[in-house]
Amino acid sequence: MPVMLQAVTEDDEVAPALPQRVLLVENSRTFTNMLREAIEQRLELPVSVASSLAEAAELLDREQGWFLVLTGLVLADGARDQVLDFFVSRGLPTVVVSGVYDEDLRKRALQQQVIDYVLKNTPGSIDYLVWLVQRMDRNRRISALVVDDSPSARAHASALLSLYGYKVIQAADGHAGLKAVEANPSIRLAVVDQEMPGMEGVEFTRRLRAIRSRDKVAVIGISGNNDASLIPRFLKNGANDFLRKPYSREEFFCRVSQNVDQLELIGTLQDLATRDFLTGLPNRRSFLEHSQRLLPQLQAKGQRVAVAMIDIDHFKHINDTYGHEGGDQALRAVAAVVNTHARPQDLYARFGGEEFCLMVPDMDEAEVDHYFERLRRAIAGISVELDGQTLRMTASIGVSYLPAQGDSLHHLITEADRQLYLAKAGGRNQVKRLEDQQVA
Ligand code: GH3
Ligand code: MG
Ligand code: MG
Ligand code: MG
Repeated sequence: MPVMLQAVTEDDEVAPALPQRVLLVENSRTFTNMLREAIEQRLELPVSVASSLAEAAELLDREQGWFLVLTGLVLADGARDQVLDFFVSRGLPTVVVSGVYDEDLRKRALQQQVIDYVLKNTPGSIDYLVWLVQRMDRNRRISALVVDDSPSARAHASALLSLYGYKVIQAADGHAGLKAVEANPSIRLAVVDQEMPGMEGVEFTRRLRAIRSRDKVAVIGISGNNDASLIPRFLKNGANDFLRKPYSREEFFCRVSQNVDQLELIGTLQDLATRDFLTGLPNRRSFLEHSQRLLPQLQAKGQRVAVAMIDIDHFKHINDTYGHEGGDQALRAVAAVVNTHARPQDLYARFGGEEFCLMVPDMDEAEVDHYFERLRRAIAGISVELDGQTLRMTASIGVSYLPAQGDSLHHLITEADRQLYLAKAGGRNQVKRLEDQQVA
């Protein structure tokens, strides 16, 4: 069964808006409605339904932003080949959803620029189609690299990957391939020929693994060679999978999709382990891990560093007044402010409960004060609308600011915590910073 987990990756966040609309063309109402509901609810993509070519044409002209068509082949106003021609000639990625298995038809459909031929009356066909739509949607944000010395083989694999929506980068040899990987962090998949002059596929894979781990790029080796030792050599040198030439389009798509699914699953698991579920911010564990690594680097450069603990004031009262859901919304709003306030070089996290933590390198005293005072004001400026009521809040901030030299993370956090306590005792909604002269 295909894996469907929400993958929150940084790539997703910066990706430009892409066409979203899915067109279902089908004259069987029951199936179409089930599929429509499944796509809308599980993937949150807008779906339109047409029951004839004429209706489809009208919809396509009326609305913008189509990205995928799922079509039956038996329509009142179009014969089978006409239906396919109609969508393929418009350059729309098309999936055939058929009520009958017809080997001849399947072959013809797959010869054309059709993505897949799916039988609708089989168990799991809705799940498969929803997975397929999601795969096609996500593929558009993924770059795939094809490394092959043969122009025709390279063009073939590239055309297939483009058909499935990937952005394709081509390389004619291993050296060019490695350069492309270094230059493009968006490459998540590499399809690699074994027989290449200069650098064989296995060697390319070995070198690629030195710069990109298995959780970043999936590698599929390809060869027409029947040598039994080749597959284990590919796999032992870091490939995820292997395809023997000549491969069928369906096999190619299955292997590629499976490997990309797995990569996303790893990403999802990493997100679950390092991000806070409620706010999407890095969690405490991830903060500690990163700041533990950053601190010695700052020390080596002789930079100063500020660590701050931010705690929402009277948060219990917010929960009591607006309910737990209102409190959650307040936490998300503060997280969003922290996220926008932080500079690229700053580390931040939801530390737990209603506490957030920041590590801010390389600022002078005045800058540190200004930075946290602005953050305090930004939090005090939040207003969350909750059915008719406006939720406002303040936060107290404790800051430790020390030469990074010789200071442990533990010490910096403990001092920030002490300052936070003083800020609370001093009346809340204020920033307290550890002064240099206070340091023993
Ligand atoms: P102070 O100004 O002294 O910080 O008072 P406070 O009420 O903010 O502090 P306290 O630590 O006593 O209470 C924190 C509350 O935060 C208690 C807990 O129920 C609530 N809380 C912790 N995590 C969550 C969460 O994920 N969602 C919601 N809604 N509330 C949470
Ligand atoms: Mg070759
Ligand atoms: Mg607290
Ligand atoms: Mg609090």
